[in-house]
Amino acid sequence: MEILQVDAARPDETAIARAAETLRRGGLVAFPTETVYGLGGNALDAAAVEKIFQAKGRPARNPIIVHIGEMNAIPDLAEHWPETAQKLAARFWPGPLTLVVQKNNRIPDVVTAGGPTVALRMPAHPVALALLRHCKLPVAAPSANRSSALSPTRADHVLRSLGDRFDLLLDAGPTPGGLESTVLDMTQTPPRLLRPGLAALADLEAVVGSIEITRQLDGPVEPRRSPGMLNRHYAPNTPLTCVDGDGWPRVCELAGKALRVGWLTFTERDTLPGNVIAVVLPDQADSCATELYAVMHRLDQLGLDCILVDLPPPRPEWLAVRDRLLRACAGADLSGL
Ligand code: AMP
Ligand code: MG
Repeated sequence: MEILQVDAARPDETAIARAAETLRRGGLVAFPTETVYGLGGNALDAAAVEKIFQAKGRPARNPIIVHIGEMNAIPDLAEHWPETAQKLAARFWPGPLTLVVQKNNRIPDVVTAGGPTVALRMPAHPVALALLRHCKLPVAAPSANRSSALSPTRADHVLRSLGDRFDLLLDAGPTPGGLESTVLDMTQTPPRLLRPGLAALADLEAVVGSIEITRQLDGPVEPRRSPGMLNRHYAPNTPLTCVDGDGWPRVCELAGKALRVGWLTFTERDTLPGNVIAVVLPDQADSCATELYAVMHRLDQLGLDCILVDLPPPRPEWLAVRDRLLRACAGADLSGL
């Protein structure tokens, strides 16, 4: 496995050419996007995409987003490209928005988990765009981490999670957005939100009108903590639990049992028990998104007994951050601590 450092704003041509060549010959390349690092393979090469599933330990039923560098790639990938998709793409691409449409039969089944639809996105990161435009291939790329673990926002997160299960890493420093793309199902009217993400719902609705939200995305914490209601995902190895409002009483309770506690909070405290490590998160949703995974990666390496997270308020701008936090703590059980 090879690591190439590239400038995030003006990536070096030779590094990009080398990565493109790796993709063309069926290899896997980890590369930065404006959301998180992705693990890419040629989307038209079933064997390459199979390697992505193996490297991640990803269940075969979970389809992968296909990344493109030019709009003219769409007719080869989508059987039908709705006008609403065109409007959204015109406004938000390149950017952190993924559009699910009817797939063309050129796309191998392994990419779409056997389903009739494909998820498409044109990423905005200069390195990702340069790579896609150089290799002239659609690139299937989920986040560059083992399945259901924390997403990587830095090259060292990728290496710690995937080791050498891929061929080449383009290291361009931290990813600016820090959270995954918003995923919309465009095969229905109105479009349906499949995953909240960096593209804000209100901005999308301003372009295409109302968007359907069927899954309960942002309910109270308690019922959602029970296993089975949500798949554990985006999760650190350390048991993590979310608290609606101020987690201080719970922190004190756990610290009183001599446990080593990590605490993600929005409120600064002057004094803390010695066995508590607190990190104050930015109270702006977009800055918080940028830092969230990096902070969780850091706490996860400290060998703590548990991590407690104060949830941000249930307001629209916090939808994606709350979704990731609730998924990260789904099924985690601190009751025995
Ligand atoms: P990740 O690859 O980890 O960023 O996750 C990609 C997200 O997009 C997952 O939630 C997938 O289930 C979703 N996705 C990818 N392809 C499709 C598709 N064809 N239909 C619906 N959802 C999809
Ligand atoms: Mg992922």
